[in-house]
Amino acid sequence: MSDNTTVNHAGLETDPDTKRIPYRHPQPKESFPEIVIPNAIPTDERLWVPQQENVWFRPLCLSASRGYWMNLLRVRKSGVLSRHRHPQPVHGWVLKGSWHYLEHDWTAEEGSYVYEAPGETHTLVVEPHLTEMITLFQANGVMIYVDPDGAVQGYEDVFTKIDLCRKHYTEIGLGEGYIDQFIR
Ligand code: FE
Repeated sequence: MSDNTTVNHAGLETDPDTKRIPYRHPQPKESFPEIVIPNAIPTDERLWVPQQENVWFRPLCLSASRGYWMNLLRVRKSGVLSRHRHPQPVHGWVLKGSWHYLEHDWTAEEGSYVYEAPGETHTLVVEPHLTEMITLFQANGVMIYVDPDGAVQGYEDVFTKIDLCRKHYTEIGLGEGYIDQFIR
């Protein structure tokens, strides 16, 4: 700190001469590299990984070490993301379009933030008169696909997501290593 440095109530330096000096030390060696994705909403259609009819996702961060994933979900008109249960929370931010759950009476419009509480079971639909929706989701742990009575039909976790991405990106010629840049 220089002589001009004062520290404000939050412990932040206020000296204009020093506050733009970068941290001078290496990052912790156990810390993983950051991920920066230009065009996170891809212009290259092939980057959307098909998931179900009229449903695709675009991986952003696949956290194998923490068991969660960040992805863009894209659902085109009349698409349905099958009924599923979340034992852990999900956070969503609607970037484009709108959608709703069959189990709730609200609609997630463009610009909305959505919190899905642990224990939720729901079915995401995009109505036929809408073109498409794109939503950023953080999903933790597992999505358990169920029938209308809650009987388990299947599941997805970060590892099945990675497998699906690797298969798709290999098939379209980007190579099986393409997905690795999104895995931490
Ligand atoms: Fe969900």
